[in-house]
Amino acid sequence: MAFLIGYSPREGDSIDLVLRNKQLSVENRVCMKISEFQDLIKDLYFKQDLNRGINATFIWLIEEIGEFAHILRSKEIDIKNASEELADIIAWTSSLANLLEIDLEFALSKKYPGKCIKCNSKPCICEKELF
Ligand SMILES: [Zn+2]
Repeated sequence: MAFLIGYSPREGDSIDLVLRNKQLSVENRVCMKISEFQDLIKDLYFKQDLNRGINATFIWLIEEIGEFAHILRSKEIDIKNASEELADIIAWTSSLANLLEIDLEFALSKKYPGKCIKCNSKPCICEKELF
């Protein structure tokens, strides 16, 4: 299963979403599989991640989630900042996966095999159980 970091318009996406992501795409778009991104983060930061350790790396992830929460709480959400914080969250998640020797692409494929693993449907029809 190929997960791509990047954006391709899908049926139902609003015009605003399509235009915003196309703008981000033009600025600085790199398409890669989750495994390629995890490898990139390993190549870039594994030495620092090892020195920092799992617990301190986890704290960094939580800090990024806090920054994202701060953006969501603002009156007008800054989508560019929100995009950057989500990217940081995925990067720190990748660092943790590297430290724990977890293959994120495999984990995602197993947990999200293209249909809901509870109701076996796409889209999921077990909303009441999840919300
Ligand atoms: Zn379901």
